[in-house]
Amino acid sequence: MTAAEMTQSGLPSETRARAEPRTRRDVPCPLCGGASREILIEPTERVDEPQALYGAASGVRGTQRIVRCNDCGMMYESPRLPEEAIIAGYAGADDAGHDSQHHMRVKSFAASLRRFAKRLPPAGSTILDVGTAGGAFLEAADEFGFRASGIEPSQYLASAACERGFDVRAGTLKDGLFGDETFDVISMWDVIEHLCEPREEVRLVHGMLEPGGTFLLNFPDSGTLQAKLAGRRFWWLLSVHVSYFTKKTMRKLLEDAGFEVEPMGRHWQVLELGYLFGIAAHLGVPLAGAVKKLLPGFVASIPMPYYASQTTVIARKKP
Ligand SMILES: [Zn+2]
Repeated sequence: MTAAEMTQSGLPSETRARAEPRTRRDVPCPLCGGASREILIEPTERVDEPQALYGAASGVRGTQRIVRCNDCGMMYESPRLPEEAIIAGYAGADDAGHDSQHHMRVKSFAASLRRFAKRLPPAGSTILDVGTAGGAFLEAADEFGFRASGIEPSQYLASAACERGFDVRAGTLKDGLFGDETFDVISMWDVIEHLCEPREEVRLVHGMLEPGGTFLLNFPDSGTLQAKLAGRRFWWLLSVHVSYFTKKTMRKLLEDAGFEVEPMGRHWQVLELGYLFGIAAHLGVPLAGAVKKLLPGFVASIPMPYYASQTTVIARKKP
């Protein structure tokens, strides 16, 4: 907001300070910086409270205008709340539901590490997991012999990960909590779509990797057949997601930052059946909530592998 706009708003300064974090503003394309775009989806709900929008990993639906850049095809939320409000929402997150699936997440990550073992450096290498939540990936990486540490904006989740014995620092990449050229691998699981400035964050990752280092990440792919068929009912359209990538825009993001991108593949996850029905109910799938309540405990805890348009990417920093 310019000084002239502040004067024009005519609000007492105290009111303005409280109101501004809840004001959505148009933002340029997070991939190419362009301002030309078309509207894809209009919001159906009005929610401006950062804690309600960003305080839980699952977020809420129908609160965003999604646009597509006319220059590069990137899809993103605009207008949106300022980044500081979004980070503040995460910092206060207290997501015990997410943490309850910790052991299932460890299994999912262990399976991913086995799948990518030949494309990753040997045991003893250093890994930084960005947005590590309760540290499930760190646990899987540790079992594979990697020296694993993490960054997590939620103080609650960072503490949970520390209690599991890992070096997890509360904050974001921009806080400079680790040095340059420190890691053999940097991973980001379910993170990049949450970032307001993915270009800057990916440049930071590039700087923190050793030459030849590996960037391992996944993202909800908005270009899949599933996504196209689902349209505005696509399950990853959530308030917590501000950047919506396809394989093409992800490749551009990584190549622009100096990475070589390897072929991308499907990311399978494992969650307990009852938890999956809970997510489906949250997403408005008819009868999912009723079915969840009827499931006997032993059925609810059956591990379920599923593919839901998550795509995994391995990119290398040039040596
Ligand atoms: Zn663009």
